[in-house]
Amino acid sequence: MRPNPSPPLRVGLTGGVGSGKSTVATLLARCGADVIDTDAISRRLTAPGGLAIDAIAQVFGHGYLTADGALNRPLMRTRVFANPDARHQLESILHPLIQRQALQQARLAQQAGSRCVVFEVPLLIESATWHHEVDQVLLVDCPVETQIKRVMERSQRDRPAILAMIAAQASREQRQQAADIILYNDGLSLDELAQQVQSIAVGFGLSSP
Ligand code: ATP
Repeated sequence: MRPNPSPPLRVGLTGGVGSGKSTVATLLARCGADVIDTDAISRRLTAPGGLAIDAIAQVFGHGYLTADGALNRPLMRTRVFANPDARHQLESILHPLIQRQALQQARLAQQAGSRCVVFEVPLLIESATWHHEVDQVLLVDCPVETQIKRVMERSQRDRPAILAMIAAQASREQRQQAADIILYNDGLSLDELAQQVQSIAVGFGLSSP
């Protein structure tokens, strides 16, 4: 029988909206990490025929689905921002499914001999369970004003909408307290960010690309 490969280091990558998580995840993947994108899993679960669709229709009604049977994201976003109970209901459907699929992907990565699995989890600090599944938390940190600027540059959202989104997440201080490694991503060029990610990756047992 094939020997069970030794477990990879499990890193939870988190940060506020627009902090630079996805950019850092891509750089870590270039250094050889196996990145598991929980936002991508969430999008698949809520696409037409996705595993979360029936439960969402039962709890919120078919009015929250599009004509082709996907989650109507803009409508649901409006609902959950106005109503914390609705947000908790949606999260109680999605989060266990997301975590189960992410851990399944991690097991496959381990079987393939992964040295380091990086779970990109925007709401890791807010979650009661994710910190049990990772060895280290890597926080991508930046000032709130930088978050606002980056999100405004890439979306149609205005400042009040972005501030409401930030207020619904853990505070910067809460994230900093929960982190093992803090990567300060402000005033850095993308090349400088890549250099910092490379030295963190070496600490994870990975090599430079
Ligand atoms: P979200 O949570 O909203 O998905 P995120 O935390 O994954 O965001 P990214 O998508 O990685 O953040 O970054 C947000 C934007 O900021 C992107 O357009 C990215 O290219 C840019 N960005 C991030 N870091 C830097 C940097 N050091 N220099 C220049 N641009 C940056």
